[in-house]
Amino acid sequence: MNRRFPGELPPTAGLPLRWRDFLPGPAPLERTLAGLFDTPPMQLECSGTSALRIALQALQQRQPQRRGVIVPAYTCPLVAIAVHSLGLEPRLCDLAPGHFDFDPDALAALCDADTLAVVPTHLGGRVADVERACAIAARHGAFVVEDAAQALGALDHGRSVGLRGDVGLFSLAAGKGLSLFEGGLLLTRDSELREALAHASRTQAGSDWRWELRRSVELLGLAACYRPSLLPLVYGRPLRRALAAGDPEEAVGDVFPLRIPQHRVGRWRRGIGHRAAARLPAFLAQGRVRARHWKERLRALPGLQVHDDRPDTQGVWPVLMLQLPDAARRDAALARLWTRGLGVSRMFIHALPDYAYLRGIVPAMDMPNARDFAARTLTIGNSPWLDEARFEAIVEELRAVLAA
Ligand SMILES: *Cc1c(COP(=O)(O)O)cnc(C)c1O
Repeated sequence: MNRRFPGELPPTAGLPLRWRDFLPGPAPLERTLAGLFDTPPMQLECSGTSALRIALQALQQRQPQRRGVIVPAYTCPLVAIAVHSLGLEPRLCDLAPGHFDFDPDALAALCDADTLAVVPTHLGGRVADVERACAIAARHGAFVVEDAAQALGALDHGRSVGLRGDVGLFSLAAGKGLSLFEGGLLLTRDSELREALAHASRTQAGSDWRWELRRSVELLGLAACYRPSLLPLVYGRPLRRALAAGDPEEAVGDVFPLRIPQHRVGRWRRGIGHRAAARLPAFLAQGRVRARHWKERLRALPGLQVHDDRPDTQGVWPVLMLQLPDAARRDAALARLWTRGLGVSRMFIHALPDYAYLRGIVPAMDMPNARDFAARTLTIGNSPWLDEARFEAIVEELRAVLAA
């Protein structure tokens, strides 16, 4: 019981960078990724949030009178911040009970002629039901923007996510698979819309050497510290400090600035991403194998639900998303595991209406299923460093909590 393991595992499976990635060289990152995942051309932006802003701006040009953007009531706070920053209204749709995806009835009731876009979200690498969201959006002429920030490499009916809706976006932020420390990608099957996205980007995001310098230093820091021996310093210690201070939002990094930087990504970072991207498909494949193995182990725990792939989808596995039977037991599990350095954590702390700092950005509404999802879910980072002994320690604690 309570064996201490050396080092600290990350809460998600990020692709480790190598020093060779940092050498100068060619930088066709977008072309490389489009080739690896067999997609139309991708467009690089300075963050997933910035990419979402640019997508919504391009769509706003087509439907300037529409104000509403429907987002899941449990998602990254940056999504609501991005919508609000454009003078649009985030409209919250509750989740299906015990699920990360939209409640279809709630979505149908919410979507109307004032809806600019619906944003189905591939949370934790699981593939959302975009087809259903598209059917509902189409009744009202609304667009669909797939938030695949956490799902680069995931497949829906054998094709990359992000292509079923009108626009898809990926994040290249720290901790999200491939990382430039901050970065984002846009894609669309529609060549006219691709032009509009490129145009919106040109008018919004100029070169800014200060931001680029800062991100370059941050990326070097990430590459240097992304290993169990150094993660206690940059991840574990701040996490434990925030938790000791009773601030879980700070602990998982949920409190974001309300101003969204927009600038071009420099050539050096693009080149780093290009070289690292070559290793991404194999890294994701290994992540799938590990996830399958860990899922099998968790099946032995009655009362525990692991979010899995729907038929005809093949997600990616930055984390395993686990649902406990009730909030008390989820909290008990976290009390035993969160500070153990095993990569156990939470995704986002609250449903969007429950963040004090988002008041004025999202409507104050009761979102019972989203709140329940936030209260019963925990994540296990599916990093390559998670080994049998550590996993057994996690299982042991979960078993004890579930038996209580
Ligand atoms: C991280 C994230 C974003 C924002 O992406 P950034 O690259 O961090 O700006 C949007 N949506 C979801 C679901 C995310 O997890």
